[in-house]
Amino acid sequence: MPATDAQIEQLLSDLVRIESVTPWLIPDGVGEAALQRFIADWMADLPGVEVWFEEVAPGRPNLFARLTGAGGGPSLLLNSHADTVGYGNWRDRALTPIRDGDRLIGLGVADDKSSCAIGMLALRSLVERGVRLKGDLIVATTVDEEGASIGTFHMLERHRPDAILVLEPERLDDVVVEHQGFGWIDIVVHGRAAHGSDPDQGIDAIVHMAEVIRRLKVLDNTGFGRGADGGSMSGRTVFHTGTIRGGTDYATYPSSCVLGIEIGTQPGEHLSDRVREIQAIFDEVRSIYPGFRGEVNVQIDREPFMPQGYEALFDAIVESAEPVLGRRPRATGLNAWGDSGLCSAAGIPTLCYGVDGGNFHAPDEWVSMPEMVAAVEIVERAIERFCGVT
Ligand SMILES: [Zn+2]
Repeated sequence: MPATDAQIEQLLSDLVRIESVTPWLIPDGVGEAALQRFIADWMADLPGVEVWFEEVAPGRPNLFARLTGAGGGPSLLLNSHADTVGYGNWRDRALTPIRDGDRLIGLGVADDKSSCAIGMLALRSLVERGVRLKGDLIVATTVDEEGASIGTFHMLERHRPDAILVLEPERLDDVVVEHQGFGWIDIVVHGRAAHGSDPDQGIDAIVHMAEVIRRLKVLDNTGFGRGADGGSMSGRTVFHTGTIRGGTDYATYPSSCVLGIEIGTQPGEHLSDRVREIQAIFDEVRSIYPGFRGEVNVQIDREPFMPQGYEALFDAIVESAEPVLGRRPRATGLNAWGDSGLCSAAGIPTLCYGVDGGNFHAPDEWVSMPEMVAAVEIVERAIERFCGVT
C-alpha cells in the first residue's frame, strides 16, 4: 500500500518538530544528531534492514539504512540531508508544522525533510511488500548540506554505489541533470596608508575596489550570463557581492579593501575561468591606476553538477513517474547548487529529484502534500526498476 497523505503528514510533522539546524551556519544550531536518532529508530523494526551511523564530526553522524539485494543488479543510494538552515525570522512557529490546504508548512518541511521522508517511506513500503531487490538499496541522510557539505564528502569517501539519487525539493515534473557550480571568493585590493592630506603618498584601496566592482557588474550583465557555450539549461550564472570591508578611519588613506563574492560556474566551466576573468579586470584597472595591486583568494570551490552515465536511472524515474503523474518528467538544469555536484565530481552517475515546495530558507517554508504522496510511489517504483527485482 502506498503511503497515505495522513501518514506522510504525520511523519513529516515529526521530522519538522525535531530541530536540526547546521551549526556551520548558525553557531548555536543543535545539529542533526536528534533527528538522525529519530530516523534510525523509525527504521529499526524493518526486517532485513541494517541501520548504522557514521560520525562525520563530534555529535554529527550520517545515517545509513541498507536493504541488501539478492545480487545481479546495480546498487542505488538515496541521499537526502538531515540539516536545515536557521529560523531566526520565524522563531515562533518554525518548529510547529501546520497544514494549510495542500501544503504543509514548517522549517525544513521541503528542504530537505520531505526527501528524508520519501526515502524512509519508500524503504518501508518495499520491505512490507516483501519486494526482493537484486541490487542493494541504501537510504542515507547526511549532515551539513546547508553548510560545508561535510556529510556528503564523508559519505563519498566510504561508499561507491552504482548510482545516487539526490533527493531535494524541485518539482516531480523536473529531473535535474545538471546545475551550476559556485565559488566563494575574496577579492583583496591593496593600497598604501598615508595621511589624508597626502595624495602623493596614499593609495586608495577602496576607490580601486570600486573600479573592480563596476567591471564585475558589467561582466555579470554581458558575459557570465551566457554560460559556457552561449546558452545553458542551468540559467543565468550566479553573481552577487556578499561582504565588503576596508579602511581604518576618516583621516587615513585605506591600505586595503576586501570584497567577498559568490560566483557561479556553468557545466563545462571551472572556477579558474572566473578567476581568470577577475584577473583580466585587475589588468584593466591597473592600466588606469598604475599603483593598483589585487589578489584573488578562493575560499570555497564547488564543481558544477555534470553527471555522466545516468541514463538508466533517468529512465527508471521517468518510466516510474509517467503512470503516477500522467505525464513524463523532463530533464532540466538549475542555477543553484546541491550535494549532487559532489556526487558527480566523484564519478558516480547521479540525478537530483524531489517535490514541489517554496519559501526555502525563509519563513513559512512549505511543501506540496499531493506531490509528496506521488513522490513516495514514484521513488519506490524507480528503485524497483533500477535495482531490479527477483
Ligand atoms: Zn536542500
